[in-house]
Amino acid sequence: MKLLVRPPQLLRALYKGSLWRMDKNEPTIYLTFDDGPIPELTEWVLDVLKEYGIKATFFCVGDNIVKYPKLFERIKFEGHQVGNHTFNHMKGWELKNSLYIENIEKCQELTKTNLFRPPYGRIKKSQYKLLVKNYKVVFWDVLSYDYDKLTSSKKCLDNSIKYTRNGSIIVFHDNIKAQKNLKFALPQYIEHFLKLNYKFAML
Ligand SMILES: [Zn+2]
Repeated sequence: MKLLVRPPQLLRALYKGSLWRMDKNEPTIYLTFDDGPIPELTEWVLDVLKEYGIKATFFCVGDNIVKYPKLFERIKFEGHQVGNHTFNHMKGWELKNSLYIENIEKCQELTKTNLFRPPYGRIKKSQYKLLVKNYKVVFWDVLSYDYDKLTSSKKCLDNSIKYTRNGSIIVFHDNIKAQKNLKFALPQYIEHFLKLNYKFAML
């Protein structure tokens, strides 16, 4: 199966006002980490970011914030940005709007943010319309496939580098499923682009 590392223009146009890529004239990359915080991986990500002096955006799952509040505090304390990723990592396509929004609001009591990313990037148009009133809805320009069992660590790194361009928002996961690929790819990805004089920034 061909991986859709970079989402097609047609899909982007469906969600007017959402964020896929930042300024295409600036050599700046936007790292985002979805699904945490979890002790197995978020601690490590924070250490790596600290080592390189980089800030990033963490789209957190409310349930994990409740389980690991200190880790959530560390993300904020170290100057990173947090976004809402629903309380239970919900698939919008499978849920009634009222239940979906309720789950997001439950997460929002903890995240208190203006950023929202739908789990799996899957959201009904009607849900999008409701959310875009209160949130900046963030998708991505590059999907690393770090969580994908069929993607090798090297392929994850190579694809992430190949598809990153000025203003790219890239998705990694502080999710146990991504552990192997993320630990391999993240430091090399950062070093590759620092050498090319790219900057890393928050949304
Ligand atoms: Zn997710």
